[in-house]
Amino acid sequence: MAEISAPKGVRDILPGESWKWAHVFRVMQETARHFGYSEVHLPLFEHTELFSRGIGDTTDVVEKEMYTFLDKGDRSITLRPEATASMVRAYLEHRMGTLPQPVKMWCAGPMFRYERPQKGRYRQFWQVDFESLGAASPYADVEIIAISLELFRRLGLGRLEVVINSVGCPECRPEYRKRLTEYFASRRDQLCETCLARLERNPLRILDCKQESCRAVTEAAPDVYDSLCGECRDHFDTVKDGLDALGASYRLDKRLVRGLDYYTKTAYEILSGELGSQNAVCGGGRYDNLAEAIGGHHVPGVGFAAGVDRILMVMEQQECSFGPVPSVDVFAVALDDASRRNVLQLVNMLRRNSIVAEMDLGGKSMKAQMKAASSRGARFACILGENERAGGTVTVKDLATAEQRELPLSSLVAELHNKLTSTREG
Ligand code: ATP
Ligand code: MG
Repeated sequence: MAEISAPKGVRDILPGESWKWAHVFRVMQETARHFGYSEVHLPLFEHTELFSRGIGDTTDVVEKEMYTFLDKGDRSITLRPEATASMVRAYLEHRMGTLPQPVKMWCAGPMFRYERPQKGRYRQFWQVDFESLGAASPYADVEIIAISLELFRRLGLGRLEVVINSVGCPECRPEYRKRLTEYFASRRDQLCETCLARLERNPLRILDCKQESCRAVTEAAPDVYDSLCGECRDHFDTVKDGLDALGASYRLDKRLVRGLDYYTKTAYEILSGELGSQNAVCGGGRYDNLAEAIGGHHVPGVGFAAGVDRILMVMEQQECSFGPVPSVDVFAVALDDASRRNVLQLVNMLRRNSIVAEMDLGGKSMKAQMKAASSRGARFACILGENERAGGTVTVKDLATAEQRELPLSSLVAELHNKLTSTREG
C-alpha cells in the first residue's frame, strides 16, 4: 500500500521546532497579560455565513480561499480562515456588551485558507489574534498597534516596518469610492482581469492588487486623506500622535486598504523585508461596522492578527533567541539488573524535583546505557550499582569533563541544582 503523506500546504511542527513555538506562545501569553487581554478558545469551524458576512463576499478569502463543506445535517460549515469574525460573534452571543468596555480578548490557533502553498504561505497556518471590542477611541487603535510592536520587541524581531492608513468610514468612503472609480475607469486597459471586476464591485480592493501593472496604476490614484471626513481625520491624527508619543516609527501608505464597508478608519500592517513576497507578519485595523454586518448591534472594534509561521521564519533568519534549548540534565544508568528498579525510583524523584531525567526503558547493557546518555546529550550520568545501593549513594559523572564523584542520595538534588544553575548561567 502507498504510504500516506500530509495534504498539500500543511505542515508538521516536530520536536526540533515545537520548543521554539512554545517560546513564542509563552511570550505572547505574557505580553497579553501585561496589556490586559484575556485568552479565549474559539471553535475551528463556524457557519459559513459568519465569514461571508464578516469578511466580505468580494475578498479573496471568501471568494477563493475557504474550506467550506456541508456537514451531515446539511449545514454549510467553514473552517475558520481568520478569527476576528468569531471573536465578534462570541462577543455578541455571550452578551459581552453588558461587561465593562472595552472587552479585550486574544486567541491563538490554526487558520485554514485554500491558497497556493509557497514559502510563508500555507493552507493551515497559525495566527495570534488580539481584539479590543467596544472601544471607539483612537487610543484603542494605538494600544492594539503597541501590543503588536511590544510582542515583536520581546521576541527580538528587528528591521520591521509599520505601515498605516485610514480607510475612512461610511460617511466619507462613498466620496472616495467615487473618485477612485472615475480614476480607474479611465485606465481600464491597464488593469488585470480581477481588478476589472473589482472596479464594479469594490474599487478600493484594486489598491490591494499584487499585479505589477495594477500597482503601477495605483501609484497616482486619488489620495484617501483628501476624502476623509472631519471625524476620520481627527481619529487618524490622534492615532499618529499616540504612536509618536510611544516613539513608534511608521510609514503612511494610502494603498493599504481593507476594502470593505465595515472596515473603518485605521488599517495597518507590519512588514519584514526578510520574508520575500509574503512580507506581512501582522495585519490589523478598525472594524466599527462588523458586528452589525454579522447581524448584531453596533460594536466598535479594533484588532490585529499576526502570522506565527512567518514570525518564526523571521526569527530564524535574524537568529533570535528562543530561550534555553531543551536538554537532558541527567541520564540514570543501572550497573546491573537488580539496580533497574532503583534507577526507576531515582528518575522519578529527580523529575519531581524539576530535573530533566531520562533512563533506558529497553533493558540495555551498562555500556549501551552510557552511550544512550551521551547521544541524548545528557549533562550528567547518575550511576547506580550494588555498592551505591548498599551505601545509599549515587555516582555522578559529568559527561562533559568525565569527572566522577560519589554522592549521598540525600544531597543529590541540591548538588545537581547547583551545578546545573552554574553551567546555565556560565
Ligand atoms: P497576505 O497578503 O500575505 O495574503 P493577508 O492580508 O491575507 O496576508 P491577514 O488576513 O491580514 O493576511 O492575516 C494576518 C497575518 O496572517 C498575515 O500578516 C500573515 O502573517 C499571516 N498569514 C495570512 N495568510 C497566511 C498563510 N496562508 N500562511 C501563513 N501565514 C499567513
Ligand atoms: Mg492573503
